Amino acid sequence: MKKIAVLGSTGSIGRNALQVLSCFPERFSVFGLSTNTNIKLLEEQIRQFKPKVVAIADEESFQKFPRSHDAEVLLGMDGLKRLCSDPQVDLVINALVGSVGLIPSLEALGAGKNLALANKESLVMAGELLIQTAKDKDVEILPIDSEHSAIKQCLLSGKKGEVKRIILTASGGPFLTKSKKDLKKITAKEALSHPTWEMGKKITIDSATLMNKGLEVIEAHWLFGIPSERIKVLIHPQSIVHSMVEFVDGSVIAQMSLPDMKLPIQYALFFPQRILSNNASLDLTKIGQLTFLEPNHKQFPCLHLAYQALELGGTAPTVLNAADEVAVEEFLANRIEFPDIQRIVEGTLREHQAKPAACLDDILNADKWAKRKAKELCAERKIKG
Ligand code: MG
Repeated sequence: MKKIAVLGSTGSIGRNALQVLSCFPERFSVFGLSTNTNIKLLEEQIRQFKPKVVAIADEESFQKFPRSHDAEVLLGMDGLKRLCSDPQVDLVINALVGSVGLIPSLEALGAGKNLALANKESLVMAGELLIQTAKDKDVEILPIDSEHSAIKQCLLSGKKGEVKRIILTASGGPFLTKSKKDLKKITAKEALSHPTWEMGKKITIDSATLMNKGLEVIEAHWLFGIPSERIKVLIHPQSIVHSMVEFVDGSVIAQMSLPDMKLPIQYALFFPQRILSNNASLDLTKIGQLTFLEPNHKQFPCLHLAYQALELGGTAPTVLNAADEVAVEEFLANRIEFPDIQRIVEGTLREHQAKPAACLDDILNADKWAKRKAKELCAERKIKG
């Protein structure tokens, strides 16, 4: 029986992960859960999964949380760190949103835990450090991202030296066919309705700007050790082909399924095994058509910015990620316009002098600097009235 800690258990991926875990009670037990502020759902999850430990990131929510259960309640980042390094934990699922996920990822790997990683920001900010720590501790980073799960599966068709390139697919988000003028008027509500995937707010906006795909290019680079010029992005509006790998002989292997995060979660939990599940079968006759097109870089410059940050290296991807985090938050609060997101990220990157990201402190300092800079730039662009 594997003991699992689910960080961010009240978010979209966390809830899906618990659903998957609940299908295999003879294989997994839930040791720990965590939330930021959603203590109502956390209480329900405690009743259902009976974890030993829960961590609440937000101090006010921690104070308010009723102690009418047996779980030990921990507070804040220290609580998260303790939860994911607990000697009893076998595997940590990191489904936290944003840069806050980095320290728990490092902590889990450092404590010798296998890490099922949905928090792509960890790899974007500190890819080298995470991969090295996993190597040193002889543990695995198992991606919970549909594209990277797909690539992991496709890579099994050949040897690493036989890989020509990785082709990441992107749904293109809800504004694929919008003109630059239309993008200016987009509201947070419109940006939050994704055509094929149901996800949290941050990633849904990142999908609409294509920044999510940019972050995934960086994630793929670190996970699979492939340079950015051999990672290609294709728009695929149906979200059925989750990614592809092209081998040197010209063969292209694709992984397909209906868009449902439970599949990549289950794959990560059981890797390298495949386990019978009651996930719906893919009926291609119902889908009818699978289409692919080039991303429009002019319309969606965030993707290009991510490639740029990866090439700059060092602290640049951290800065890209931090600026995006701030800009998305400001957009969701109706304080800046949709196209400003890209402007803020670009402006912040332009003012940053990339340094080597040799240790956690370098990365956290760059993150802090970029968030402050991005906030300044947001204030300049603030919507009047
Ligand atoms: Mg993805």
